[in-house]
Parts: sequence; structure tokens; C-alpha cells
Amino acid sequence: MAVFNHVSFDEHEQVVFCHDKESGLRAIIAIHNTNLGPAVGGCRMWNYASDDEALTDVLRLSRGMTYKNALAGLNMGGGKSVIIADPKTTEREALFRAFGRFIHTLGGKYYSAEDVGTTTADIMIAHQETPYMAGLEGKSGDPSPFTAIGTFLGIKAAVKHQRGLDSLKGLKIAVQGVGHVGYYLCQHLHQEGAELIVTDIHQASLDKVASEFGASVVAPNDIYSQDVDVYAPCALGATINDHTIPQLKARIVAGCANNQLAEVRHGEKLKELGILYAPDYVINAGGIINVSFEKDYDVHKSTTKVEQIYQTLLSIFERAEAENRTTGSVADEMAKAIIAQAKMVTVS
Ligand code: NAD
Repeated sequence: MAVFNHVSFDEHEQVVFCHDKESGLRAIIAIHNTNLGPAVGGCRMWNYASDDEALTDVLRLSRGMTYKNALAGLNMGGGKSVIIADPKTTEREALFRAFGRFIHTLGGKYYSAEDVGTTTADIMIAHQETPYMAGLEGKSGDPSPFTAIGTFLGIKAAVKHQRGLDSLKGLKIAVQGVGHVGYYLCQHLHQEGAELIVTDIHQASLDKVASEFGASVVAPNDIYSQDVDVYAPCALGATINDHTIPQLKARIVAGCANNQLAEVRHGEKLKELGILYAPDYVINAGGIINVSFEKDYDVHKSTTKVEQIYQTLLSIFERAEAENRTTGSVADEMAKAIIAQAKMVTVS
């Protein structure tokens, strides 16, 4: 398993492999860049098929956090952690205490929070061992509703840019994954009058959005080919790939999942086909923006900043169109400029 030569290494500052014999913890913490401040990014718990798969995931997610935090205008660097374990495990106390102790050894260079497979309750367990946890109960709490607000506004920005419409009323939107974020996103879309087509691998989650928001349910593999205006990936990453792109009828891809493009070239393919892509780390920044207000938590200040995602995305779409580039490359360039500027300020 290559680390320094890994295709997604991208000049990571620090990568920590953690093992605790008693709890069975196996985790990787990746700190990509701290130019803008301490690295902040969630902890994902997943049944990775191999250590390699876990490393690839954490490196890609961590780099994404650097760009996400920069473009969201936060004084925070990028990092992420993964725990290699079944996310459904009920033996969580010892595991997350051990995880918290590893976070503590980094002395505040990295703050962790919840992500796929982990909950606020897990974060509170780790918090007993270290202050370097974010998204705490009684403070900013569950980031998902804020990620959903940002994603909803991102979809609106894409529709505004492509179709000149100010409302989603009557538009058809396919949502893949109706978990924490997907559920709240469906709520906003339904309130706005959009027609929902959803899929998930958990029947109970599907039943909830079908009964509350009148969503039509389709099988997981059928979500890509739906005749819809927008495809919103809100489950796991890499769902925009060689296999799915030819199936897409949607002219917009805008959802909350991290790392939606299997490879950079898939962003180019979307552009070629005239499909507008909302870069994932820009549209899904609502949760981390909310976490950034953790210290003196104020829901109004947080929401106002989350709402800026609409304007940020419009600027990216306009610039990409004017320069005939992919939205992803424009977003990356904007984020890199902010990070480089922060480095210059630190050095001078
Ligand atoms: P979640 O685990 O609550 O929801 C994901 C949902 O996707 C689950 O209901 C799961 O059953 C479903 N799913 C998994 N595989 C599927 C498949 N093959 N087909 C259909 N559905 C499938 O996670 P979440 O917190 O809602 O996050 C969703 C995505 O958004 C993740 O990629 C996450 O990294 C990203 N994200 C989340 C936040 C946040 O605030 N929670 C912030 C930024 C990005």
C-alpha cells in the first residue's frame, strides 16, 4: 500500500494510522492542509473491503475538506478520519473513547465530527477523551439539516443558472439516499413544490419520505435513468462514472454526497454532454459551516452563512461558462487561490 506515492496523497501534511488492541479500533486520520487553521472534518465509519480502500477514501475526503472549508470562507484547514468497522456495531463506547484518545495526541491540529456511519452520540463519547471534537450535542449538534439547506439552495442556483427559474415548482428531482441529509433535502424540495423520485437501500427511510412528501420510490439501480430535471446524489461517492453517465437524463447533477465524480474526467464528460455539475464540496458545505459556529453557537449567523452557497455556486457556474471550463476546475482554482493566499499571510 503506497502512501506518499498514493494517487490521492496530494501533499497531505500528516497521515496517522491508529490501532487500539483492547477496543479493536483501526482508524486512519488524514490532515491535508492547515494553512487556514486547524483541520476540521468528520469521522466516517465503514466496512471497508481493504486498508487500501480506507486510505483512498480518507485521503480524498480530507483533500475535499481543505477545498470545502476554503471556499466556504472558513478559517479552518482540511482533514478527515475513517474507522474501519461495521457502522452498525453496537459496541461503540470503547471504540470511540480510543478514537478520542488518538485525536487528543494531535494536540488540536485536527478536530473530528460526525459523518457517514457515526452519530452525535459517538462524537460525545470521543469528547470525553478530548476537547478536539466538533458538532457537539447542545452546541451546533447534527450538521445534516444545514447541509440540506445548502444543497437545496445549490439545486436552486443550478436551476437558476441553466433555466433562469427562481422556483423548483413542478420540477422533477431524483434523490439517491434519503438518510440524514437526504430526508431534510426532500422536505425542502417538497415544500417548494418539486416532484420527488427517491431511492435508498433502507426501506424504513423510503417509507418515511414516501408518506410524508409523496415521493415515488424506485430501485437503487433505476435512479440514474429517471426522466428528471435534477439528479441529487445523497448517498455515497463515485456514482458519476462510466456506467452511470450514459443513463442520465437529468441536465443537472447537484447533491450532497462527497466525491461524486469517480474521476476528474467524469466532470469533463458531464460538461461535454451539457449537464451542469454543482461541485460536491461547494454545495455540501452547509454542515461544516454550521460546525464552524460551534464556540458561540448562533443559528441565525450560521444559516446566513450557509445561504451564501447559492451565490458562490452561481459565480462558479458563470465563470465556468465564460471560460468554457468544468465547474470542478473553476472551484478547485478558486479554493487553491484562497489557500495559497493564507500561506503567504502566515509566512510574511
Ligand atoms: P446517511 O448515512 O445518513 O445517509 C446515506 C443514505 O444513503 C442512507 O439512508 C443509506 O441507506 C443510503 N444508501 C447507501 N448506499 C446506497 C445505494 N447504493 N443506493 C441508494 N441509497 C444508498 O449519510 P448522510 O449524513 O445523509 O450523508 C449523505 C452523503 O452526504 C454522504 O456522502 C456524506 O459524506 C455527505 N455529506 C454529509 C454531510 C452531513 O452533514 N451529514 C455533510 C457533507 C457531506
